[in-house]
Amino acid sequence: MSDIRNRIAHLPPEKREQLLRKMAERQQASGAPALDLPPAPRPARSASEPSPLSFAQQRLWFLDRMEPGTTLFNLPAAFRLRGPLDVKALGRAFNALVERHESLRTRFMEQDGQPVQVADPSLTLALAPEDLTGLPLEQREEQTRKRMAEEARRPFDLTRGPLLRTRLLRLSPEEHVLLLTMHHIVSDGWSIEVLIREVGVFYEAFVAGITPVLPAMPLQYADFARQQQGREGETLRRQLDYWKARLSGAPQVLELPTDWPRPAVQTFQGAELRVELPAALVEQLKALGRRSGATLYMVLLAAFQTVLHRYSGQDEVCVGTPSAGRSQAELEGLIGFFLNTLVLRTDLSGDPTFLGLLGRVREAATGAFDNQDVPFEKLVEELQPRRSLSYTPLFQVMLILQKPQGRPQLGGLALEAIKSTAGRSMFDLTLSLVEVERGGLVGHVEYSTDLFEEATIARLTQHLRRVLEAAVARPEAPLASLPLMPEAEQRQVLLDFNRTDTDVPLDVCFHQLFEAQTDRAPDAVAVRDASSSFSYRALDARSNRLAHHLVASGVQADSIVALLAPRGCDFIASNLGVLKAGAAWLPLDPLHPPQRLAQILSLSRAPFVLVADVFAPLLASALALLPEDSRPRVLSLEASLNADVPSSRLSPRASPSHLAYVIFTSGSTGTPKGAMVEQRGMLNHLHAKVLALGLGPKDVVAQTASQCFDISVWQSFVALLVGGQTLVLGDDVAHSPSALLNALEAHAVSIVESVPSLLSALLEEADSRGSSRPALSRLRFMLPTGEALPAETARRWLLAWPSIPLVNAYGPTECSDDVTHAFLSSPPASSVVPIGRPVCNTRLYVLDSLLRPCPLGIPGELFVAGTGVGRGYLFDSSRTAVSFIPDPFASSPGARLYRTGDRVRWLPDGSLDFLGRIDFQVKLRGFRIELGEIEASLRQLPA
Ligand code: AMP
Ligand code: MG
Repeated sequence: MSDIRNRIAHLPPEKREQLLRKMAERQQASGAPALDLPPAPRPARSASEPSPLSFAQQRLWFLDRMEPGTTLFNLPAAFRLRGPLDVKALGRAFNALVERHESLRTRFMEQDGQPVQVADPSLTLALAPEDLTGLPLEQREEQTRKRMAEEARRPFDLTRGPLLRTRLLRLSPEEHVLLLTMHHIVSDGWSIEVLIREVGVFYEAFVAGITPVLPAMPLQYADFARQQQGREGETLRRQLDYWKARLSGAPQVLELPTDWPRPAVQTFQGAELRVELPAALVEQLKALGRRSGATLYMVLLAAFQTVLHRYSGQDEVCVGTPSAGRSQAELEGLIGFFLNTLVLRTDLSGDPTFLGLLGRVREAATGAFDNQDVPFEKLVEELQPRRSLSYTPLFQVMLILQKPQGRPQLGGLALEAIKSTAGRSMFDLTLSLVEVERGGLVGHVEYSTDLFEEATIARLTQHLRRVLEAAVARPEAPLASLPLMPEAEQRQVLLDFNRTDTDVPLDVCFHQLFEAQTDRAPDAVAVRDASSSFSYRALDARSNRLAHHLVASGVQADSIVALLAPRGCDFIASNLGVLKAGAAWLPLDPLHPPQRLAQILSLSRAPFVLVADVFAPLLASALALLPEDSRPRVLSLEASLNADVPSSRLSPRASPSHLAYVIFTSGSTGTPKGAMVEQRGMLNHLHAKVLALGLGPKDVVAQTASQCFDISVWQSFVALLVGGQTLVLGDDVAHSPSALLNALEAHAVSIVESVPSLLSALLEEADSRGSSRPALSRLRFMLPTGEALPAETARRWLLAWPSIPLVNAYGPTECSDDVTHAFLSSPPASSVVPIGRPVCNTRLYVLDSLLRPCPLGIPGELFVAGTGVGRGYLFDSSRTAVSFIPDPFASSPGARLYRTGDRVRWLPDGSLDFLGRIDFQVKLRGFRIELGEIEASLRQLPA
């Protein structure tokens, strides 16, 4: 029914009358219930009698009381008038208009605690033109824009009025600009059309010197407000019930990914971006609509909601749409606030086809228009959604398809609306389109500049267009298969951001490069700890002896040698020795209880354990927990290092694709997983660090991390590639902010890595020392890692040591440690520091749940490809299969992607924003604790 009403509303007046009469006749003949359009008899009321406010007015009054004179609800309009203008006649025309419409003489006040509106008996507007003709053209235009902006920002006083302001600028004898500003409480977009039309009629008559005739007003706005307040009738109740059912359980907020965090209080600052859809596409969209009985609006809405669904990851998307709110014919000629807002909630779940979705949208839209008489304010009052100052209730995104406008005229004068750049946005996003004469749709996206940057909105409009094109081409394809990104953007995220191919030596093993470095500068200090230090030559010899001994003991390529020893020079010598023997080391944590050590030994099936004498008793208790036949062979670390074997180098026993190490991720609740890293991956990461940090022989790299933490590997080894020095700092130093700060200074450390929590403690320590804090003059880079780096920590660091950049380093153990680096030498703009770009020979993909690439700015899961991707989980093929999947983007067969479980998004500069975990993995001082198991079992519980 209201669909008909809507269509009727858009007809020219004479046609409308004709049609209504015919329909009434037909209805009478058929005995169907009458169309609810009969004009109510004009209620007897004197204009000066206070009337209640309509629901919509009440809200504006309330908001204005909260912030008196807010200009958020100013409706500024500006028109350029070309031709000879009779200023006097125009002035008279406006005054005739004001006399005709009570709403333009209305003021607002409170009576007995209730807001009321009262129309003044008369009001005279003055319209003296301001002469700008003397100015050069450019200045005239500039002054015009300035006055438009002034008017938009000039407050109204609702209690005093007038709530319509006119201003006339003379640019030349034949060109004027008319500025019209009204408060929304007495007007809306439709009203402005009424105003122009009627001012035109008056003006023409006054110019011609005749008495203007306009049909009598059937009622005034105040009458409508009274009717609305008095109408608690059946219809309203029924419509309210519809809305309650329709919107129950709807998401409160559409969580679009924003460029800036949503402010606690909306500022409504905004901007606009032009949108255009070509005629050919629009024709196809209409044809698509016709196929399933849907209007162009519905097709647009379906595509728009598809984009919003993909952006937010939400299955339920609510979009607002304006409705004229003048469903009775007699309201059509009124000036006043009738505009209503309807909420279109669509369920996009279950991956329907576009046609299927169109059906759902049609149902939502038809339902909404059939129940459009409920004022939005009333709906909010009834539904009582969670209220927040940070977003608008019930919906935050709007779609408007305006009816095509004819060429506006003002009594023979050509009228051209001047777009105002009001710089406002009532919602997060409003897409507003209108069909133009030459075909096609034009319009703009109005967006909140608190949330979005222009480039983001530009991409959004491209994504919408792509979905529209795809929907036309393949309306029966599942929604998920419709592409979002244009080719160029797809190329950017898949290829351009991943151009990391770098020629670094990867066809040898790390220890061979170490040996080459030893030959270049054998006497340089290679490693140092609190009690010992080795030159390159000594370290090489020591690790050679260990390797010979391991080989003699039966260690082979890819054998796993568990290592239970304190961090220090000998630990590094053992790592090297194991590699030289062709094997992989498995660090055991001396802080773990015997049960845990036994568990790791048993999961890894390591055939050998190298144990420092000090931990021999601990190991013995662990082994006692294992069945006798599955115990590894135990080798004393000290005895092995000093074994009576040659110290000469061994001939190569392993290749770059052999295992380098296995690290078990913490998993203190679930079963730990042993991540296998191959030589090539480890070496690539070492090269990545050398390149990123520009390392050389002068560098002193601090080894601070536990040997069971993947970052300990590069901390131990990287300096040895370039002739630098590894400085092992024991836990007593590495975990104490004060001791660490002193050590960095005392030992001239140039590279140090830290988890953000420790970094923050370090900064507190530095602050407490004030001006006597160490200068750290040798420190070149601080690398925060392991967890999201809070911007505040970064800011404090760069304040304390402005010339020491931070390098936010991100990477999972499974991918040989870091896969991204982000350099930061000035305080970050966002609240969290990005994790940066892919390191050398690494490709990163941000994919949605169906493994499709996400556009820039849209969150997805991070997947890693390239040299660093590890071999998988030791003896755990099922978990390996879940996390290491075939790489659909690779050209080489067998390539795999590692699924990180981290939520990220691309930033425009090709770096990544880290947004958190997808699962319940947490980090405790840099260590991974996997709660996946708990989560999985929780999911199986009945709700
Ligand atoms: P791990 O395997 O111990 O290196 O842990 C890898 C996980 O730690 C990643 O998947 C992230 O969840 C987290 N992580 C590591 N580095 C960072 C970082 N710089 N920023 C945010 N999260 C990080
Ligand atoms: Mg890591």
